[in-house]
Amino acid sequence: MTRLPRKDLFDLPEGIVYLDGNSLGPLPKAARARALEVIEAEWGQELIKAWNTAGWMGLPQTVGDRIAGLIGAPAGSVATGDTLSIKVYQALAAALKLRPDRKVILSDNGNFPTDLYMAEGLIDTLDRGYELRTPAPEDVTAHIGEDVAVVMLTQVDYRTGRMYDMQAVTRAVQAAGAVMIWDLAHSAGAVPVDLTGSGAEIAVGCTYKYLNGGPGAPAFIYVRPDLVADIRPALSGWMGHDAPFAMERHYQPAMSTERLRIGTPPIVQLSILDEALKIWDGVDMAELRAASIALSQRFIREVEARCPELVLASPRDATARGSQVSFAFDQGYAAMQALIAQGVIGDFRAPDIMRFGFTPLYLDEGDIVIAAERMERVFRDALWKDPKFQTRSRVT
Ligand SMILES: *Cc1c(COP(=O)(O)O)cnc(C)c1O
Repeated sequence: MTRLPRKDLFDLPEGIVYLDGNSLGPLPKAARARALEVIEAEWGQELIKAWNTAGWMGLPQTVGDRIAGLIGAPAGSVATGDTLSIKVYQALAAALKLRPDRKVILSDNGNFPTDLYMAEGLIDTLDRGYELRTPAPEDVTAHIGEDVAVVMLTQVDYRTGRMYDMQAVTRAVQAAGAVMIWDLAHSAGAVPVDLTGSGAEIAVGCTYKYLNGGPGAPAFIYVRPDLVADIRPALSGWMGHDAPFAMERHYQPAMSTERLRIGTPPIVQLSILDEALKIWDGVDMAELRAASIALSQRFIREVEARCPELVLASPRDATARGSQVSFAFDQGYAAMQALIAQGVIGDFRAPDIMRFGFTPLYLDEGDIVIAAERMERVFRDALWKDPKFQTRSRVT
């Protein structure tokens, strides 16, 4: 069993407390070495032979199986590649085909924008009278009617950290005859997930947040194994073909989740991700969850005692929350910039959310206390009022 934290496995800059691993995980030391090897020894020396000699062709599946192990899914049920936005599109298109007589996609109004944008784009492309409904998260279950084809929810809300009960919601969705899609962007590597136990049809997620795969790392998609044969891929690329190198004239989908792959896999990025995922070997997700709750509860306690200006914007009940804590403050952008200047990195989400992620792989309670002390300084000395913290960057 791996003891947490494992700070020695990451390249974290000296003096920084990193509370943004929910947005972009840090660099695993082994990933740097692997990337160099892939570029220099494999691409550089082997050239195109490396697809066979360095195992590039099997890498998407190897990585998919590693992810499967972290989300309670069987080996062979997770395909990797592309971005999460693309995987959302594929998931929705496949789900709608499974319920041809129904016309509603149900999500919630707190969902991450791209998930909703992709749904809107798909509806427009299909042009068959589909409709996207987005009630408030607490009202979703009341909206699961007979006209709903698919319910697409992000388990952990990116702003507040509020977490749906995956088993209960999936049961309600399936009882109404709809298809369940879970977006695990803020779940994979953050909380224990039991996809098989939930019975959900489809799940998607990204790997550059809690899984530390690096900026732009490939996304993943899970399909419940008994449904694979019924999934008609909307983006029928050659890498999802049953025999890509047979170069057949017509598309014939692979008989596994691999049918949801599209084009040539990003080998450098996949290799980095493969290395980053090895860190999870031997990590007990229940232990990680307990550590995450301890860190986040300590953070809430310390911050509320030191910064009375801030209002908790996350559920106080840790079991109703993922692995992040958010505070609302109307000058939250400037306050976060001031805090980052003090060496505590979180991020800001419009309109007023200061967001902090808790990642027990490389954080301990000492880090939490340092972060709270520096936050206290930002507010006590009104450091955020400095004009240099007022101008917004492109990425917040
Ligand atoms: C981070 C995140 C995304 C990002 O999608 P990309 O295509 O990887 O940019 C999408 N959906 C959710 C719920 C997210 O949290």
